Amino acid sequence: MNDFGDIAVIADQIQNDIRPVTFELLGAARELAGKLNVKVRAIVMGHQLGSIPTTLIHSGADEVYVVDQPELAEYTTLPYRRAAISVIDSFDRVPHIVLCGATTLGRDLAPRIAAHYEVGLTADCTELDIGEYEHKGKADPAKVGMYHNCLYAIRPSFGESLKARIIGPWKNPQMATARTGALIPCKPDTSRTGKIIPVKVDFKPDDFRVKVIETVRKVSSGADLLKAKIIVSGGFGLGGPEGFDTVRDLASIFKESAVGSSRKAVDAGWIPYDHQVGQTGKTVRPEVYIALGISGAIQHRVGMSNSRVIIAVNKDEEAPIFQFAHYGIISDLFEVAPLLKKEFQKSLAAAGAAR
Ligand SMILES: Cc1cc2nc3c(=O)[nH]c(=O)nc-3n(C[C@H](O)[C@H](O)[C@H](O)COP(=O)(O)OP(=O)(O)OC[C@H]3O[C@@H](n4cnc5c(N)ncnc54)[C@H](O)[C@@H]3O)c2cc1C
Repeated sequence: MNDFGDIAVIADQIQNDIRPVTFELLGAARELAGKLNVKVRAIVMGHQLGSIPTTLIHSGADEVYVVDQPELAEYTTLPYRRAAISVIDSFDRVPHIVLCGATTLGRDLAPRIAAHYEVGLTADCTELDIGEYEHKGKADPAKVGMYHNCLYAIRPSFGESLKARIIGPWKNPQMATARTGALIPCKPDTSRTGKIIPVKVDFKPDDFRVKVIETVRKVSSGADLLKAKIIVSGGFGLGGPEGFDTVRDLASIFKESAVGSSRKAVDAGWIPYDHQVGQTGKTVRPEVYIALGISGAIQHRVGMSNSRVIIAVNKDEEAPIFQFAHYGIISDLFEVAPLLKKEFQKSLAAAGAAR
């Protein structure tokens, strides 16, 4: 082990359901930990967490710090902040890196942790890496020099047209949040072993300035976008909300499929926001992404360009989507979609995988 700290991942769970971003963060943390020769420490907070700590070990954590107390049954900022900081302070050394999901929970909690330790925080990363940095700026002579093993927090920038590599090597922990769907989880391995360490937190009366009176949960119809193996997505080229019937019809033939959308179709009110893919929507990574009548603007591309195979149908041969689609069909989507459906149905039937 190295003489600098480990990597801490704050697990994101709602009602004892671990959010997919947690597994993705653990996957990335394992890669980084391999480069640094340090441990991955997951921190999970909540109440009646059951088998979650074990699942985190199977998913890449070496140690899981568990705060399981009734005060944490529902997420509120101050008790979770107190719990996270108590756990980090209980470590034998300051973590080198702390990672959170760029989720509602992570976006609220991570800045509180960063402010407590007076460190920087890079939000909404799509890649994480380790590297070195030479600081030549003369403004603060004390900072000039070579920094090794810096966290490279990488995220789209300047209207998503550039990838910025952001570093904050001056003080640990180096912190980042990552978008759901951007990082790659490890394959779960039930034979992995690790340590589960319970931590008891002493809350202060001030931590309970906000009281949750009632939580009303809405099940999002687009949530399965993150799990879908095949996404059929529609854009403004659909011409109206009824155009999504064509999209749904094609999606319906595949198992584990979902319907996605461009923002322009969402803004037009043709489909709810939770179907939106892109910079201000979801980041997806399916096996196949079929884009019908989507131009391929950079803000859409950043949300789906990691799909394994991209098939685009657009009647404009100059559409930007053809620059990064694996297969492009220059034609009217309403003519092509039924033909695709027929051909896919034939192949699925031949493979015995029809829905
Ligand atoms: C800050 C910011 C954030 C944004 N976030 C997102 C985001 O998260 N997701 C997102 O998608 N966008 C986002 N956008 C918007 C983005 O810039 C584009 O405006 C949007 O993606 C365009 O949607 P579209 O491709 O459906 O529409 P258009 O650009 O209008 O493209 C429609 C396409 O359909 C084709 N077409 C028309 N009729 C047919 C037909 N019958 N058959 C085949 N093809 C046809 C046209 O040739 C055209 O290429 C964001 C923009 C900003 C400024």
